[in-house]
Amino acid sequence: MNVMFQKVAMLGLGLIGSSLCLAMRKHGLAQNIVGYAKTPETRQVALEIGLVDQVYATAAEAVCGADLVIMCVPVGACGQLAQEIGPHLSPGAILTDVGSVKGTIVRDCASFVPQGVHFVPGHPIAGTEQSGPRSGFAELFENRWCILTPLAGGDAAATAKLEAFWQACGSNTELMTPDHHDLVLAITSHLPHLIAYTTVATASDLESVTDTEVIKYSASGFRDFTRIAASDPTMWRDVFLNNKEAVLEMLGRFTEELAVLQRAVRWGDGETLFNLFTRAREARRNIIAAGQDTASPDFGRVQKKS
Ligand code: NAP
Repeated sequence: MNVMFQKVAMLGLGLIGSSLCLAMRKHGLAQNIVGYAKTPETRQVALEIGLVDQVYATAAEAVCGADLVIMCVPVGACGQLAQEIGPHLSPGAILTDVGSVKGTIVRDCASFVPQGVHFVPGHPIAGTEQSGPRSGFAELFENRWCILTPLAGGDAAATAKLEAFWQACGSNTELMTPDHHDLVLAITSHLPHLIAYTTVATASDLESVTDTEVIKYSASGFRDFTRIAASDPTMWRDVFLNNKEAVLEMLGRFTEELAVLQRAVRWGDGETLFNLFTRAREARRNIIAAGQDTASPDFGRVQKKS
């Protein structure tokens, strides 16, 4: 047991919020965990399965007396939440979030954080395509990266404490600016999701290939796209609305690469295809060597919980 916070307020109890509650329980990081969720169903489940000790129907009530407040709601909802809780935050408290975009979170929230409260935005690079309070598991953050984007002139001790918290949840931590975070995530996460959504939409629009054939022969790559494209629509709508510039920049580069491949296919340029595929295979090997995935075959069937 290593109690780091007396009272943690978890605002939003979906995949990330519930996983954090379970990770805190597993490692004994909080004396008391309270929660806020929008719907009565989520509040009831959170109590029922022991994610939180108390649950509130308003975020303002939940944050009273908390020394750590974590916003685990869609990116587009964080600004309003910050405005609502601002006057109720305790002096000395750390306020953080887990949103997949950082620039707009800083823009939308920072002005509502009172003096004496330490706002340190964050983003755990860990997730699944599941959502809701029952989808969480304590091991979600283990051996994954958590990026913190502290504000210029912010309190270094608060950032260090939040880093220690994520490390106690099993994560590796890194600090960067919000803009750099948004650029990195545009290529590693946001663009792949956009491509998956497009691929699945293209298949469902085809008239000459039946739905049954798409499902039946999905092992040949399509199944992995459907897994990514099954992610929460609200979360992903907000990601693209809030990381517009970086996504458009990566999409422009992607389109250029695609045109090169298209040309190689049209002209039967095997050398270009082979060289590009060889480079891509190397990227996969590097990810495995860095311990961010295993080399064992996974056809999208195994739910990784450890
Ligand atoms: P989730 O499972 O869908 O849970 C979202 C939670 O936010 C739910 O408790 C929901 O309440 C609440 N909520 C939704 N809209 C709200 C609003 N307008 N105001 C207040 N509360 C609202 O989502 P999640 O996957 O945990 O994602 C939460 C955050 O983590 C997002 O910002 C996302 O970008 C980030 N993130 C996600 C992943 C991932 O892979 N999923 C990874 C890293 C970071 P109800 O249940 O009551 O409806």
